[in-house]
Amino acid sequence: MSRFPFGLCDTHCDTLTEMCAAHDGFYNTTHHISLDRVDDFAFYTQIMAIYSDAGRTEEACWRQFLTACDYAEHCREHHPEITACSTAAELEAVWARGGKSYILAVEGGKLLAGDLRRLDIIRQRGVRFFTLVWGGHTCMGGAHDVGGTLSPFGIAALRRMLEIGIVPDVSHASDAIFDQTAAICAEAEKPFFASHSNSASIHRHTRCLSDAQFTEIMRANGIVGISFCTLHLGAPANAVTVARAVDHIEHYLSLGGARHVCFGGDLDGIGDDIPLPMRGIEHMYLFYEEMARRGYSDALISDLFCGNAQAFLRRAL
Ligand SMILES: [Zn+2]
Repeated sequence: MSRFPFGLCDTHCDTLTEMCAAHDGFYNTTHHISLDRVDDFAFYTQIMAIYSDAGRTEEACWRQFLTACDYAEHCREHHPEITACSTAAELEAVWARGGKSYILAVEGGKLLAGDLRRLDIIRQRGVRFFTLVWGGHTCMGGAHDVGGTLSPFGIAALRRMLEIGIVPDVSHASDAIFDQTAAICAEAEKPFFASHSNSASIHRHTRCLSDAQFTEIMRANGIVGISFCTLHLGAPANAVTVARAVDHIEHYLSLGGARHVCFGGDLDGIGDDIPLPMRGIEHMYLFYEEMARRGYSDALISDLFCGNAQAFLRRAL
């Protein structure tokens, strides 16, 4: 029997990038996420991002994306139990049979190189989520660390995403890009989300969301994934615990976020900087224990582990 009566649905990881670099696969690796270690969950759905490395050229980022897509397919060939999903109907089938699934995302728009046609190729490859910016200045505009706005190309790219069914992600966005995205999505009546962003009220950092931003995401029918990056959880690295991550969740809950918070752990994107005593995905039960200790109901814990993200995927895809 599964350890949990519910599944896990997480909105951000960099495992595919790590798999490509290490030339290994979905199973039996030392990465934070290895699919032999998710069997405790009633089902498992992971948004897997392909990262546009800020240190690479635009063309190198684009080649990296295409290589990662091919590599995921190659690794999945021998594992029919893993489903690459790009629609809500495909996800429903996986959830119904208690399977393992992933959906592709792009993290950082540098790979577009100012070419809107690349978005159509990205969509054809099954990508449904797009973190608009990651860091610094790119063709999309300036990220959280430089405080820029969406460029004219960035605005056109965002509009094209909404047209072709790619959901924008404001994690890593500057405040100005957050506002532009919220306005353009409201005008188009489409949701947006923050796949891995913690609360600035618990830890002030440009990567974290203000209460007003979290409220705006709720209003847009979006969702926010809690990141395990110790830098964004706050407190010295050697003292960041699972409880600290739950503090961020609890603050979002205090803003009325019971239906709008999930996990976006950023596993395999944050080195060894994850909350103690976690080592990887197999230790997610520590969150269950911490939440139960704080008196959260099983229904609320289930929503945080999977129900909220499932509801978001149903309405966004
Ligand atoms: Zn990130």
